[in-house]
Amino acid sequence: MAIRDILIIPDPRLRLQSEPVNTVDKGIRTLVDDMFETMYAAPGIGLAAVQIGVPLRVVTMDLAKKDDEKEPQVFINPEITWVSEDKSAYDEGCLSIPEYYEEVERPAKVRVKYSDLDGKQQEIEAEGLLATCLQHEIDHINGVLFIDHISKLKRNMVMKKFKKAAKRGEPAKFAEDKEPSHHIG
Ligand code: ZN
Repeated sequence: MAIRDILIIPDPRLRLQSEPVNTVDKGIRTLVDDMFETMYAAPGIGLAAVQIGVPLRVVTMDLAKKDDEKEPQVFINPEITWVSEDKSAYDEGCLSIPEYYEEVERPAKVRVKYSDLDGKQQEIEAEGLLATCLQHEIDHINGVLFIDHISKLKRNMVMKKFKKAAKRGEPAKFAEDKEPSHHIG
């Protein structure tokens, strides 16, 4: 297992469309192990493989509270098959956009089909944090970031900060640091 580097915006690889996984083989299991190690170290509650530079449709997640027992979840080739009409708003953050948090409105409930680590097809209906996190991570494997769901003005401000920071080789800083309730992924 190894902790991998997490890509930060404006890294263009974050905009890649991830490819489907054909077979859950040893390579995928190693990737999943590395993703969990990277995600727990960050720390984050969700991670898409593309965030560590591997454009495959693989997502890891653990929504357990800090001091509770770990609840690792893996979603291979996840696909949203249904969304509710009612929406819910959540203060999102992203390991690829560190220290920036903004409220995003998304469908409150979703149904997602995916393959598990045994290659078996599964389908779940999710709400609350799980629904938000699944939509955030499935966006990642489609090259979409949570800042694509906020106003253009705010998105441009964030992109500008991160472009400048990347040039300086320093992390981006935000004046009004909100206390994050969660890092998403
Ligand atoms: Zn993210």
